[in-house]
Amino acid sequence: MQNTGPLNELLRNQMPAALEMLRQMVGINSFTGNRDGVNRLSRYTAECFAPLGFTAKYLPSANQAWGEHLVLTRRGRSNRSLALVSHLDTVFPPEEEARNNFRWQVEGDRIFGPGTHDIKGGSVMIWLVLTALRAQEPKLFEEITWKLIWNASEECYSPDFRDVCRAQFDRGTLAALVFESEGRAGKTGLLVVARKGRGTWRVTVSGRGAHAGGKHAHGANAIVQLAQTVERIAALTDYERGLTVNVGTVRGGTVLNRVPHEAVAEGEFRTFTPEAYAHAKAGLLALAGRGEVRSPADGYACELTVEILTEVRPWPRNPATDGLYQFWKQAGDELGLSVNCEERGGLSDGNLIWDAIPTLDGLGPWGDNDHCSERSADGSKLPEFVEASSFVPKALLNIAAIRKLCQA
Ligand SMILES: [Zn+2]
Repeated sequence: MQNTGPLNELLRNQMPAALEMLRQMVGINSFTGNRDGVNRLSRYTAECFAPLGFTAKYLPSANQAWGEHLVLTRRGRSNRSLALVSHLDTVFPPEEEARNNFRWQVEGDRIFGPGTHDIKGGSVMIWLVLTALRAQEPKLFEEITWKLIWNASEECYSPDFRDVCRAQFDRGTLAALVFESEGRAGKTGLLVVARKGRGTWRVTVSGRGAHAGGKHAHGANAIVQLAQTVERIAALTDYERGLTVNVGTVRGGTVLNRVPHEAVAEGEFRTFTPEAYAHAKAGLLALAGRGEVRSPADGYACELTVEILTEVRPWPRNPATDGLYQFWKQAGDELGLSVNCEERGGLSDGNLIWDAIPTLDGLGPWGDNDHCSERSADGSKLPEFVEASSFVPKALLNIAAIRKLCQA
């Protein structure tokens, strides 16, 4: 095990300031749809990093209803650059926070509150790492051009952030480091080296309406057609390929005395590999066209249309990410910290950038219950929290690995 005494002490001394910063961030509601809140958090974040020499740029979201993306830059002496990525938004509307009394609450080592873990704790981790690097590794800190990029609308899978990142990456960008939360298997910290992609879809069946009493045979029943079609969609799921196709909602018909003329199903599919992703998408699109449910009177057939609504491509296992992960693995070995990697089901900004720059994710602190705000008296429901004691060891790991990465 390495002697990390001075660095360890420095990080410990910074923790009160780091936690106060986190408390301030958690106090600002930054639900994706709360444009003003997201922008307020973005201004506060820029203030936190200004003493480290960062200058702020605010970039409007493609969707006007959302806040601005934040880019903080500190130019280095060399042409080598590191991109550190986080997001500003959370999934909690202000009304929900009030209803569930979900706010900053410290209980032992756990800090409950909206965004403590996803992802304001990760943003504070970036500050801790850079503060310590400036004090302990001034040469390295001054050499690197640091680009800190915050997505204003990560929780809504904003596709424009892909272009925002690409425009910011310099030619000498060594890596993109994403500060989403760490995973855990027992005491082993898990970094993220792959994430599923996700496509959402809608299938609309257009039948032919008819009076259910007088002209039933004239109708082509859209609901009956949809029932057959959703069976086929569900059957596209292939666990062995790591592909799930979920039928999420169905609706159709209007009143009971009509043969329904329309029915709609919506859902999503997820998978780790581009091949399985393409397979699912093709399978869905192939359903379009004439259905088998017809009017018994004249053979009029139901018609199916298939729309792919949104797409976030998979971040598959790849050599660039695996190479990056090795720096963290080696750093963990040297520090006596147990580190492993995982392929995670949920999306992150890593999905948008891995194919432009070597990307590693899961560099934030540890906690649990992301996206949950409810608490029950018997403790069977607990809201999102971050573990305060996970900051310092994770910062040590990130610093050691960044040092290796920059010296490689
Ligand atoms: Zn997140």
